[in-house]
Amino acid sequence: MNNFSYFRATSVQDAVQRASSDREAMFIAGGTNLVDRMKAFLDEPSQLIDISRLQMQRIEPIAGGGLRIGGLVSNTAVADHPDIRRNYPMLSRAILSGASQQIRNVASVGGNILQRTRCPYYYDTAFPCNKREPGSGCPAATGINRMHAILGASNQCVAVHPSDMAVAMAALDAMVEVEGAKGKRQIPFTDFHRLPGDTPQQDTNLEPGEMITAVVLPPLPFAQSGVYLKLRDRASYSFALVSVAAAIELAGDRIKDVRLAMGGVAHKPWRPTEAEQFLIGKPADAATFQQAAEMALQGAKPLTHNSFKVELAKRAIKRSLAVSAKGGGVA
Ligand code: SF4
Repeated sequence: MNNFSYFRATSVQDAVQRASSDREAMFIAGGTNLVDRMKAFLDEPSQLIDISRLQMQRIEPIAGGGLRIGGLVSNTAVADHPDIRRNYPMLSRAILSGASQQIRNVASVGGNILQRTRCPYYYDTAFPCNKREPGSGCPAATGINRMHAILGASNQCVAVHPSDMAVAMAALDAMVEVEGAKGKRQIPFTDFHRLPGDTPQQDTNLEPGEMITAVVLPPLPFAQSGVYLKLRDRASYSFALVSVAAAIELAGDRIKDVRLAMGGVAHKPWRPTEAEQFLIGKPADAATFQQAAEMALQGAKPLTHNSFKVELAKRAIKRSLAVSAKGGGVA
């Protein structure tokens, strides 16, 4: 670990001004991913700007419905909040399916969104890695790539985003509130993370020095029937091979509206929007769900060791849609 200075911010403006004037500075809140990366020499900040005591720790209703979740609310507090459990159960279940209770107690919402891939080559500095050192190569593309992407990858990087929470937020059409030296703005959740393309070192569309101050969940009444299905190698403390967040609104036996997002398959939470459009107006039955699943995976390009993810993802989509169509619960 390198030498760095430590600064405890007393306001958001204070923190973003400091971060904007020093491109090597980094924000720290819970530190559950950043400290690991620093210990592995992946991040070597000049200074850590501690934002953990800033006033961004509330979950509050917003005018017209929906909730505003402060960027420093712990993962546990989000998952346990009664309004989230009742109105956005896929978000609560997604969070509870990730990490451990101890980590969720200190991990912040902003930090969860900003966590980086768990590609083992990225963490092992004995290997080259385009995300760590642009232009050095991607050993995962031809190496052990069982956990890697099947959608949206590039020849520069085949990593997946590790967050469960982010998959649910993408499905719920959340907005990310950020603040930087130029002021405040909102970014649709589905535009927040990037596909790797030629710049795999950039995970998000944040500008330098910008901080996540909140996530806004819009009102979505049928999200009460939402589900989160995570398929993984062991039942706890394991990243998703494939996950699906789904919610269906029915009008009689037909689908009136739907939200669908996938995790463990791409560099960002993946919204199969064509499949969503296809579902609207169709009967909520197994044949429709099968067709939607085929459509969601039609662009999949599996690697040497992860072709199983294609069929796994299709089955996860079918099951998630079927459970949500019956009112939700555990998928
Ligand atoms: Fe690095 Fe991405 Fe390749 Fe992993 S998949 S080794 S993170 S470039």
